[in-house]
Amino acid sequence: MAGRCSSRSMTLDMRPMPDPTGDPVPRPGGRQDLRADCDRCVGLCCVAPVFAASADFAIDKPAGQPCPHLNAKFRCGIHNSLRERGFPGCAVFDCFGAGQHVTQLTFGGADWRASPAIATSMFTVFMVLRQLKELLWYVAEALTLLPTGPLRDELVLAGDTIAWLTDAGPDELAVVDVIPHRQHVGALLARVSQAMRAEIGLPGPNHTNADLVGADLRGANLRGAVLRGACLLGADLRGADLSKADLLGADLRATDVRATELDRALFLTQPQLDAARGDALTTIPAALARPPHWPSPSTPTDPAINRPRRRRR
Ligand code: SF4
Repeated sequence: MAGRCSSRSMTLDMRPMPDPTGDPVPRPGGRQDLRADCDRCVGLCCVAPVFAASADFAIDKPAGQPCPHLNAKFRCGIHNSLRERGFPGCAVFDCFGAGQHVTQLTFGGADWRASPAIATSMFTVFMVLRQLKELLWYVAEALTLLPTGPLRDELVLAGDTIAWLTDAGPDELAVVDVIPHRQHVGALLARVSQAMRAEIGLPGPNHTNADLVGADLRGANLRGAVLRGACLLGADLRGADLSKADLLGADLRATDVRATELDRALFLTQPQLDAARGDALTTIPAALARPPHWPSPSTPTDPAINRPRRRRR
């Protein structure tokens, strides 16, 4: 059950918990505060995480050490050329609003450069809060799918419990055990997914955690499929039917989704979308933004994939 956080401190225990019998107000339903606002952050995502030199990051960087490209104003000095400079992992990173929350709310506008004594705590809290905010995003997404009912009420309570945790102070947040919340929300999302996929009849194929690296899935019938945690790195999904396909946690790096309808897929996030290769004909969920590096509508499209559009429910 969400909220059974084994390491919760006394301070947290003394704050009022969300009322499980109260109105199921979708507190995390408004997603404005679940979007990164770099102007109100102090570059936490460029300092707190560890980087391992790879196709995603051009350098090794230990946790807590500022990236050499972070400038004095806490902005990226190579923002407009991240991919070209070997940092595509930065281009697809999303803190889900954790950066400005930690900076402005948890630490009251302080910054780690001016106040080095808080640096370690700030970075630790950011790594915890980023996970909690991501869970809130999924809860908010699920709430947009569900009608009123017991499952929706459970989701609201789970979201409220996590949102309540995010309001804690730095010492409490630093020791929050995210795992039980992740497990609880994951189980709820699985039930939401099942309910959504049941709406379209027979269950689709189950590719949970499947290795689909480079797979040729052009035009595949993945309607109602479970692709949770599937590795679709470099796969070709052009024209595949992904209606009500569960993409929670699927690796879509360099996945070809040109001219593919993604707007009806379940649990697609902005980082997944940003990592994929789309085009002007790719349809996306209303809550997400079209990645700026995708070709614009005025860019000529490969005629091989410029096929008539299908609409399915
Ligand atoms: S390359 Fe830019 S976005 Fe990536 S960590 Fe460094 S400063 Fe931040």
